[in-house]
Amino acid sequence: MTATALTVTDATLTYPDGIGRLTALDHVHLHVTGGSIAAITGPSGSGKSSLLAVVSTLIRPDSGRIELETADATVDLATLTRREGAALRRSSIGIVFQQPNLIPALTALEQLEAMSHLGQRFFTSPVQRRETRTRAMELLDVVGLADQQAKRPAQLSGGQRQRINIARALMNAPTLLVIDEPTSALDTERGAAVIDLILTVARTRGAATLLVTHDRTHLHRMDAVYRMVDGTLSLEHPAHAAA
Ligand code: ADP
Ligand code: MG
Repeated sequence: MTATALTVTDATLTYPDGIGRLTALDHVHLHVTGGSIAAITGPSGSGKSSLLAVVSTLIRPDSGRIELETADATVDLATLTRREGAALRRSSIGIVFQQPNLIPALTALEQLEAMSHLGQRFFTSPVQRRETRTRAMELLDVVGLADQQAKRPAQLSGGQRQRINIARALMNAPTLLVIDEPTSALDTERGAAVIDLILTVARTRGAATLLVTHDRTHLHRMDAVYRMVDGTLSLEHPAHAAA
């Protein structure tokens, strides 16, 4: 497999705050390679979601480099235009937020298929549609929901919805997977199953994965554990895959 990685170097982000600025990211450094998972913990308001927004091109940092090494190029995400950022998100970044923002009218299968049609300017051919369907079915199977493919979000449990959310983020075979507190709305057992799934997909699909989590019970299974406090990120438990 080609080496892929995310490297954040000296990233700083501030937000307007009254007459001053609030520092959300304070000279952050981070490195995660393809197939490994860096967990990020830390108190509420410490900057974890801001870091995920910066690495997924949703917010531009004030300074620093956010380098994503893909199979064919290294891109500095901090320098992308909005349009380039959107294109890169479609091709290479999988994003999973706390609340699965599924589309109520679509079935589980259609939620995944819709990802492939985003940003498509032209009519998709029957062959492309078949390939998309095959891939969507394969991923529903990976997350254990092949038999639920015709259900709509209202007919699924919170854990099942979060699994679909994860499967959907894998539709574009992302180089980078960013996941923000995926278990916060789930009970312990369902949460553990979702973490198991994330560990499996990150490793088998080779995505460099950033996982924000409050749940400390699974941290020993991560390749690296970082802690964010007041915008400052530090390595809590370094590991083999971090270098
Ligand atoms: P966490 O995910 O760790 O809870 P956030 O990254 O959401 O932290 O927030 C970090 C800090 O930045 C907090 O003080 C929060 O209030 C502030 N913040 C987050 N988003 C914005 C925004 N869009 N505009 C202004 N301040 C924000
Ligand atoms: Mg957050």
